[in-house]
Amino acid sequence: MLAALLAALVLFTQPILAVDVALDPGHSRADIGSVGGGLREYQLTLDLARRVRTRLESAHLSVRLTREDDQPLSAYTNPLATEQIQAEQQPRIAAAVPSRIYVSLHFNVGPTQLRATETYFNPERAPEAATADYSLGALLQEHVVEALAAEVGYASLDRGVKSDLAAGKPYGHFFGLRGPVPSALVENLFLSNPDEGALLRDDATLDALADGCAQGVLEYLAGAPPAADGLE
Ligand SMILES: [Zn+2]
Repeated sequence: MLAALLAALVLFTQPILAVDVALDPGHSRADIGSVGGGLREYQLTLDLARRVRTRLESAHLSVRLTREDDQPLSAYTNPLATEQIQAEQQPRIAAAVPSRIYVSLHFNVGPTQLRATETYFNPERAPEAATADYSLGALLQEHVVEALAAEVGYASLDRGVKSDLAAGKPYGHFFGLRGPVPSALVENLFLSNPDEGALLRDDATLDALADGCAQGVLEYLAGAPPAADGLE
């Protein structure tokens, strides 16, 4: 009994290893996100995160996902309340660190005619941090759009790199961009657009998105400082 307790204590007190990349598959079963093409955003983001992880690990980077299954990391009593979505982002950040960067993966929702790719960063940070976030976001955006064109022949519009405030989106998910490391959120395609919803049923599209996200991360980290010891 005592041995079991001690073993549990050792396990509990072991430091969490720093990773190169934290990937946040947006949403969960409690907050399913956008829906389209017979797909649900929370399932698609986890699928995409796993594909990105495979690519980054092949490039010898260490990766952690903020969730490995469909469960939320916080208690939801009202899945539609923005405050609860915001509250969910704190354990997501906690699950992500220590890491060098944080990339949240999402699919967009809007009027059915809206389509294409956009990436968000948090402009409320100190100027240096906001610049790093913007650079990460710009590389993700560039390579996702590029990979869609090159690999599946889809000319996704470049909707650009945006800040949450300028976009006027009160989504709680942007609270995930308030962590301690360079952070960006990719809205890969619009699940609410019938054409893009259909594209997302195709594995080749998800592979293209994963290639684009992985390439953006690799290029960002190639120019970024290595993880500091004791980074939190
Ligand atoms: Zn989302």
